Amino acid sequence: EERKKQYFADENDLDLKTKLSDELETFTNMNLSRPIMKGLSLLGFVKPTPIQTKTIPIGLLGKDICGSAVTGSGKTAAFLVPVLERLLFRPNKVPLTRVLILAPTRELAMQCHNVATKISSFTDIRICLCVGGLSIKVQENELKERPDIVIATPGRLIDHVRNSPSFSLDHIEILIMDEADRMLEDGFKDELTEIVQYCPKKRQTMLFSATMTDNINDLIRMSLNRPVRLMVDPPKQ
Ligand code: ADP
Ligand code: MG
Repeated sequence: EERKKQYFADENDLDLKTKLSDELETFTNMNLSRPIMKGLSLLGFVKPTPIQTKTIPIGLLGKDICGSAVTGSGKTAAFLVPVLERLLFRPNKVPLTRVLILAPTRELAMQCHNVATKISSFTDIRICLCVGGLSIKVQENELKERPDIVIATPGRLIDHVRNSPSFSLDHIEILIMDEADRMLEDGFKDELTEIVQYCPKKRQTMLFSATMTDNINDLIRMSLNRPVRLMVDPPKQ
């Protein structure tokens, strides 16, 4: 317990502005840019869910996050909004892949890609989906263009890192591991370890997991730097 305390960021370290009364929170209060607000309304999102209320302001501060909330609680937009804001707010002069989002399955990666495409509709942010079942050659060509965001399954991403000389993770600023518990259950521990090692040390990492097992704690220690723990309790039965 004592070690845990030292490792995790103390919530009291955070600026008071990030401490919110959840009930009153709106997307408008979060000072998001206009294109992102328009993207959210395209999805019909008016009020943030509890995990979004907690995650977005802390994500915008650039802190590492270790989040848990049940399926269906809105984790996708919780991490996508800070990601997209960062890309808009600090645009790059040359094309660079700055964000990597990992999800356990092709379906989950595709869902994430869908939401990301919608929220970013009013921006020129470029997103590439890298999953099995799609042509590796087509993906390779897309990756050559250095899309701002790559959304991938760990297996397919490793294929690209190992086999496409023009693709690298050298410029990753934000790494997202969605459904981390599931990625470990599906046997991706070695791939995740390798991918984390290819990313620059100086980066923001957000990890989401429904459960917090010993395996997850190992992954957290390996990949996160003084993360803020954000938890939303499952709704009471
Ligand atoms: P999780 O990843 O936590 O399982 P998702 O991000 O897939 O959850 O979101 C679950 C559902 O909730 C989706 O259908 C999504 O469109 C919807 N949703 C997410 N955020 C909001 C919001 N702020 N307002 C309304 N619906 C939302
Ligand atoms: Mg999800």
